[in-house]
Amino acid sequence: RTERADALVLFGITGDLAKKKLIPAVYRLALHDRLPDAVVGVARSGWDLDDLRRHIRTTLDESDHDVDDEVFERIARALRYVDGDYEDEDTYVRVAEAVADQQLPVFYFAIPPDLFDDVISGLVANGLHERARVVLEKPFGRDLASAQELNALLHRHFPESSIFRIDHFLGKEAVQNLMVFRFTNTLLDPVWNRYYVDNVQVTLAEDFGVEGRGRFYDGVGALRDVVQNHLLQVVALLAMEPPATDDPEALRDEIAKVLRAIRPFDPADVVRGQFEGYREEDGVEPDSDTETFVAVRAFVDSWRWAGVPWYIRAGKSMASTVTEAVVELKRPPRPMFTSTASVPEPNRLSFRMKPDDQITVAVQAKKPGEELESRPVSLVLSEAVDDGDAPGAYDRLLDDALDGDPRLFSRQDAVEAAWEAVQPVLDAPPPSELYRVGSWGPTGADRLVPGDVWNPCGEG
Ligand code: NAP
Repeated sequence: RTERADALVLFGITGDLAKKKLIPAVYRLALHDRLPDAVVGVARSGWDLDDLRRHIRTTLDESDHDVDDEVFERIARALRYVDGDYEDEDTYVRVAEAVADQQLPVFYFAIPPDLFDDVISGLVANGLHERARVVLEKPFGRDLASAQELNALLHRHFPESSIFRIDHFLGKEAVQNLMVFRFTNTLLDPVWNRYYVDNVQVTLAEDFGVEGRGRFYDGVGALRDVVQNHLLQVVALLAMEPPATDDPEALRDEIAKVLRAIRPFDPADVVRGQFEGYREEDGVEPDSDTETFVAVRAFVDSWRWAGVPWYIRAGKSMASTVTEAVVELKRPPRPMFTSTASVPEPNRLSFRMKPDDQITVAVQAKKPGEELESRPVSLVLSEAVDDGDAPGAYDRLLDDALDGDPRLFSRQDAVEAAWEAVQPVLDAPPPSELYRVGSWGPTGADRLVPGDVWNPCGEG
């Protein structure tokens, strides 16, 4: 087992991510007695330690916690503050002083990626990289070339085993359940392949728009924001082979293998969309072609999945907020027990990850009555284990990074393979089609799927 870190250094402690996720996660580390000896906040606000304490207290009070004063005091006692610009070399001298008594710091980069270079140089200049881990937030580049550059920069000073790339999806209960459910139920084993599965549909829909983050979003779009990372992770967990051992790298090997097997997306199999009114959002270019919706017909060219289409879609300002993967089995070979000539609905396994965690199996059973007829019935296999919200995910990931457990973090080869899959669309994006706010995206996306209708999503 690797050593547990004894310091957590948060670059970007005044930022949005720190406020929404990291400070609440630090609180829960303290609550569970998992706090490292030192928690160091770094920012350029001209603050002192008392200001940082107040900021943390206010952030916690404003979150949905009942803050326990004793737990807060534990954080306050561990807390240190370093003030300084990331472009100023002296900042890192002070960071080094703040962790001088610690053996193994974790440096968390909750900062814009264009500052990584400066921060890494500053850490290296003070020898701080020698016994340290770094935690990075997405985006890991904005295309294949920049992801490779970022990885090269990191590898100049840190071995891959010290780099923890957060894809918070992997920290969610419901996402981990995809893998647990698959590999603990032999029921699924014989059918989990191209012979029985007709298609898989993965949806991440949000019923809200860019919420004041137009400037950030306009340079990114749905493909980079959630498909290249989160949704391809979901595909990987559904499509992967069972890991050979319990070793964290065995799991990461299987994830990387699936991502490498994804055929680079064909722009002809991609529909991009933009919700009406997006161009009037603050920070959005008036002639922006950025997609707020994207749908893809993808293929995993592995032995198990050859020929099975994977339909992936993500969008903002959609009809509802839901993240779900639906695995549809092939239909029975001919109609039976039906009054019409149509074949009954196929069996579908739905893994819902948001708003709640629920697995549903849609089957057919006899319709009560004199006739021998079937009707669709849903078996709800699991519900509300966890609402899958991100703070829970951050608690776990932060704790794992402190432990040095890389299982739920993205490895370099996996990140680059995922960029390879989406790169053809970045190179030749089909033009965005407008769609109505509150709809399921542009009508063009319907033409990607068989029968022009996506499976019902978020129901049951
Ligand atoms: P943010 O609110 O813009 O915060 C960035 C932090 O960096 C702030 O504390 C800011 O300090 C500091 N900073 C910027 N330039 C600096 C400089 N030259 N010297 C010193 N400090 C500087 O960004 P964020 O939303 O927290 O995001 C941080 C990272 O997480 C980004 O890589 C982002 O892509 C990623 N991420 C964010 C979210 C999210 O929900 N926010 C989700 C996923 C990933 P000032 O306040 O003084 O400017």
